[in-house]
Amino acid sequence: MQKPTSQSSSRAYQGIAVSPGIQIARVHIVDPVKTDITRRVIAPSEVEGEKKQLRKALDSARREIAELRRKVLESLDEAHASIFDPQLMLLEDEVLLAQTNERIERRHETAAQAFTTVIHEFAGKFSTFADAYIASRNTDILDVGNRVCQFLTHTQNRNHSLQFDDDVIILAPDLSPSDTAQMDHEHVLGFATELGGPTSHTAILAKALEIPAVVGIGPFIKGVPSGVTAVIDGYEGTVTVDPSPREVARARARRRRHLVHERDLQKLRTLPAETIDGYRVELSANVELPIEVPHVLAHGAEGVGLFRTEFLYLEKDGLPGEEELYMVYRKVVEEVGALPVIFRTMDLGGDKFFAQLQTGRELNPFLGLRAIRLCLAYPEVFRTQLRAILRASAHGRARIMFPMISNLNEVRQAKAILKSIMDELRAKRITFDEAIQVGIMIEIPSAAICSDQLAKEVDFFSIGTNDLIQYTLAVDRGNEQVASLYDPFHPAILRLIRMTIDAAQREGIWVGLCGEMSSNPLCALLLIGLGVNELSMGALAIPEIKRLIRQIRLADARRVVEDIYSLRSSAEVHDYIRQAYRVIQRRRIKAPVNE
Ligand code: PEP
Ligand code: MG
Repeated sequence: MQKPTSQSSSRAYQGIAVSPGIQIARVHIVDPVKTDITRRVIAPSEVEGEKKQLRKALDSARREIAELRRKVLESLDEAHASIFDPQLMLLEDEVLLAQTNERIERRHETAAQAFTTVIHEFAGKFSTFADAYIASRNTDILDVGNRVCQFLTHTQNRNHSLQFDDDVIILAPDLSPSDTAQMDHEHVLGFATELGGPTSHTAILAKALEIPAVVGIGPFIKGVPSGVTAVIDGYEGTVTVDPSPREVARARARRRRHLVHERDLQKLRTLPAETIDGYRVELSANVELPIEVPHVLAHGAEGVGLFRTEFLYLEKDGLPGEEELYMVYRKVVEEVGALPVIFRTMDLGGDKFFAQLQTGRELNPFLGLRAIRLCLAYPEVFRTQLRAILRASAHGRARIMFPMISNLNEVRQAKAILKSIMDELRAKRITFDEAIQVGIMIEIPSAAICSDQLAKEVDFFSIGTNDLIQYTLAVDRGNEQVASLYDPFHPAILRLIRMTIDAAQREGIWVGLCGEMSSNPLCALLLIGLGVNELSMGALAIPEIKRLIRQIRLADARRVVEDIYSLRSSAEVHDYIRQAYRVIQRRRIKAPVNE
């Protein structure tokens, strides 16, 4: 989206903020390296030579990526270095090699031509996934393809140089994870790309390397002269090219404020999320990929409140085996040590179509064979995952959570399966945590309404407001056209949350909330007043929510809840809470944080 501003010739562009920070520097435009692949039919006598070239190019690419992996391991950690493992595996892939060789032999294509075709077909499979994380994997695959083809075509200056003598902000159509890892960290102050999404490996690396970054801006680079000044704002997700002096001054001031604010938040890292009058809330993180775990801990999370386990099912063609799942889960619980990790059993279906188990496209996939329904329809797949989680529970504090529960029967069936696996493991003398907590997500209105009955069956609830809002208000959570109706402050949502928390409290179980509402300060204020015990959110939001909690009294938050209960519209609710929040913020300015 392009928004020309009124002053000077500056242009502001909006994208997705993926790594925080504000920087001002001259622009350096990175053009994608073009590998010129001339199409020609090779002579039969050239076939063996082309195949040999291919093997050599694969070897060279492997060496380069292994070196990159080593560098990332040195500057970050194993979790981030392992971003390059799928690329290394791809270069060892027998099928890929066989298919390329076949094209060289049968179609008489050059190695570069054959390899490009095969790799594009392979990447294409990933781009059809609705899930953004999986779809973005094709950038990684094409990155490998490019590298190999550059060796095959002897492209000069194969790697666009990302080393500089003075400070720059990089603008590029797209950047691969290897580009990001290779950047001159001293002089690249930030980068912005036309393509890319928040869960891409490029975004993950930028965050870990603390390089402010904005992605997914759309076409904007054409016409931006290299060398012009730009401001990158990794909080708001904007890039301002050729800013006016006023815009530069404003950016500098904002940067100073953010730095002070972050320093303040950092001080809170090891302090508990406790209100002035002593009400303790557990703040945990939502995690989609194991690689995020170190980052999560750095933000002061007290555990993983929602580990979305879908990625291992979506990342490849076949179903993952028990051993593979176990190794990943074990690593995660070991990494967080004494802190708890809630493994939500797979929530496939809905917008995460899974061809292995779903036989056909559904007309209403969000209302169809999704999550626990899919698991109960394919108990062997479910059992494999549960066995892996239970085995991992012997190495840390794992918890199990079933998603998309709509009735009591589903909970009982899921628990019966879990119990039979526990019996099996005991019989085989395989250890697991005998006291493992088992909970459910409350994300369907029927579950919230019957939460009094469900509370008798489980150790905890976690309210999934992303879905609860969608199902209660009949608003597709991913449909832009009805986005204005997707309303967390709708009185119906607040009543369902209250009903759920009250039911949990009456039954003496703990209740958390892991939807996006947790990270919204206005919602968090309300949720604390309602009596939530845990809030789980994207790690970046944790310090700010902790600060809010340490600034309020439970009694005040309760009063807000009582006051809004009589309000009839979400606009009134929203305004009321905002007003209450302002009062708290004013108090915050007058009195420093209770550190
Ligand atoms: C939710 O529905 O609120 C939730 C946290 O789960 P997901 O976003 O994965 O559906
Ligand atoms: Mg959900």
